[in-house]
Amino acid sequence: MDDLDYGTRNKRGDWAPSGHIEVAPFWAWPPKALAILKWLPEYIWPWNAFHMATALLYWFYVVPDVETMKTLTWGWALWLYAVNAAAIFIFYGSVELFFYVKRKQGNRFKYNAKFPSEQPSDVFWFKSQNIDNFLRSFFVSIPLWTLVEVLFLWVFANGWVPWLGWSEHPYYLAFLVVVAPMIHEVHFFCIHRLIHWGPLYRWIHSVHHNSVNPSPWSSLSMHPIEGFLYHAVAFWHLVIPSNPIVAMFQLHIAGFGAVNGHIGFDKLEITEETPLDTHAYAHYLHHKYFEVNYGGDGLIPLDKWLGTWHDGTKEGDAQMQARFAKKKARMNAKAERANS
Ligand SMILES: [Zn+2]
Ligand SMILES: [Zn+2]
Repeated sequence: MDDLDYGTRNKRGDWAPSGHIEVAPFWAWPPKALAILKWLPEYIWPWNAFHMATALLYWFYVVPDVETMKTLTWGWALWLYAVNAAAIFIFYGSVELFFYVKRKQGNRFKYNAKFPSEQPSDVFWFKSQNIDNFLRSFFVSIPLWTLVEVLFLWVFANGWVPWLGWSEHPYYLAFLVVVAPMIHEVHFFCIHRLIHWGPLYRWIHSVHHNSVNPSPWSSLSMHPIEGFLYHAVAFWHLVIPSNPIVAMFQLHIAGFGAVNGHIGFDKLEITEETPLDTHAYAHYLHHKYFEVNYGGDGLIPLDKWLGTWHDGTKEGDAQMQARFAKKKARMNAKAERANS
């Protein structure tokens, strides 16, 4: 495929998509029924369908029986950790292997022309982004993901929160499944915006942002506090009446879905005819410019409403630069006041 049919490449070799990142069409006024109908399949396929498929696989083949989960023991907790780690190793690892190690697609559709392995840096453990991100994912974030999983399953198993059945509440639970990605986006926006506050940023979130040029292993490379808060999105299903399968879906949107923003390529040429859209650009811009796109790619466009949206165009860039200039002027004025 020729990526220049879909975007442009600058002197440094960085590729950017043409067009702009669009927020979900149901935010348009007046509503455009056709646009919503066109968008719906994209909402479901392939990513959310994939997260639902893994949630069901877990529920039927991995999660122990309810009796076992009534008591907290290392046995089933470690089993869940092993499955989570193996699943991430295979899923993220195969993207790394084909697109970053073997580079089967070269840098077609790649936002940043460079590969992380070419850029050793002191900010990383062993000076390597790959090793650092890998170790943090498997020994910090995936254990915390598992902790969240064990806790909500234990609470459901003990009947301490409502466990709604599919046959009694099919419509309500289907509705929860549909809104789960929206819950994810709002939860992520809130915790993410919080840890961008100066002191919390330096203490917690800078770990994740060390990867200015992210790859799949960067997705879950987090400080433990972020790793816990990020996966704690599943706890919303202990607050609202729900079902553990929906909670598992919610957790997988976070755990498996984290890769979306960090693939580094706009499309993966899985086959020539059907490249896979990664939806990675909004979060790539966040890693590049830090103070834009705190949320996802516009399902619930909180960034747009709060003035931190970068839609990937020149205008988006100009708006961001104007905001940064204003912030700088404010900080300079503050510093002057402090000095006088
Ligand atoms: Zn990120
Ligand atoms: Zn951030």
